[in-house]
Amino acid sequence: MTETTASAETTPDSRVRGRFAPSPTGDLHVGSLTTAVGSYLDAKSRQGTWLVRIENCDRDREVLGAADRILHTLEIFGLQWDGAVWYQHERTEAYAWALDTLRRHHRVYPCSCTRRELAKHPTLESHYPGYCRTGPRRPEGPHAIRFDASHADALTYTDRLRGVQHCAPQQSIGDFLLRRRDGFYAYQLAVVVDDAAQGISDVVRGADLLDNTPRQRLLQEALGYASPTYMHLPLVLDHTGAKLAKSRRALPANPADAPRLLTHILAALGHEPPQMLHTAPVGLQLTWALQNWNIYNIQYDKDILLPDL
Ligand code: GLU
Repeated sequence: MTETTASAETTPDSRVRGRFAPSPTGDLHVGSLTTAVGSYLDAKSRQGTWLVRIENCDRDREVLGAADRILHTLEIFGLQWDGAVWYQHERTEAYAWALDTLRRHHRVYPCSCTRRELAKHPTLESHYPGYCRTGPRRPEGPHAIRFDASHADALTYTDRLRGVQHCAPQQSIGDFLLRRRDGFYAYQLAVVVDDAAQGISDVVRGADLLDNTPRQRLLQEALGYASPTYMHLPLVLDHTGAKLAKSRRALPANPADAPRLLTHILAALGHEPPQMLHTAPVGLQLTWALQNWNIYNIQYDKDILLPDL
């Protein structure tokens, strides 16, 4: 009995499908690279598939050339993805179709509120209370589409690191955007449609996205999709304790410079390679990490403080 359980846990599982889904709003920073390393190791240590998806729904925020530079950086760090890279700007038909499904099920409504109007009430942009739920306040002119969370039940899901999470959608989420007034599809809809279309089984991403998970679970339920598992890695801070999200710190563009940073990233994820592999070529370090990957080594309740590199 024990033997069966043990072998089931260690059996390679080719059904595991992970992904890294960067937005090309700038070059990759150390925080995103840490997420990429974590999701790569999580999928590949179980002989799974690891996909890369460029999340460029919001064409206004896309920085020219950033997607190519992100892919190049992943290659320098030995993070080779499977199959073709998906680009969200090529997926608008799928998003339109999903929105139509939600419309037919009366789960969405048009909203004419502008950002400026909502900005007057700072809490409303992140938690819209449904002003237009019974009909847009200004029926003429452009409107956004919102998900109606007013009937959503309390939600419980398990984060693989953080355990059981609870959320009361009406209080903590409100009616969120699926398509903006300018016609661009919103992140929440695109990510859910694409995770389902790519058959993603395991989402591994940064803790800054933790709050988005209940919204995505609601959408999955409304669209009849299976939900992947979720794991939110700790946030990466620089040596001063500042968030790296907006950091423009350049990552090594030369493969010879990458090993030192990879050693730090692996250590930050609780997988410091043995001394003899410190600064070894990235392929060797990744091979060691794949053999030793154990998510319970990750200290999820503390931000990651990277040394001044
Ligand atoms: N595109 C998002 C970002 O770069 C990540 C989306 C996700 O992993 O769900 O922050």
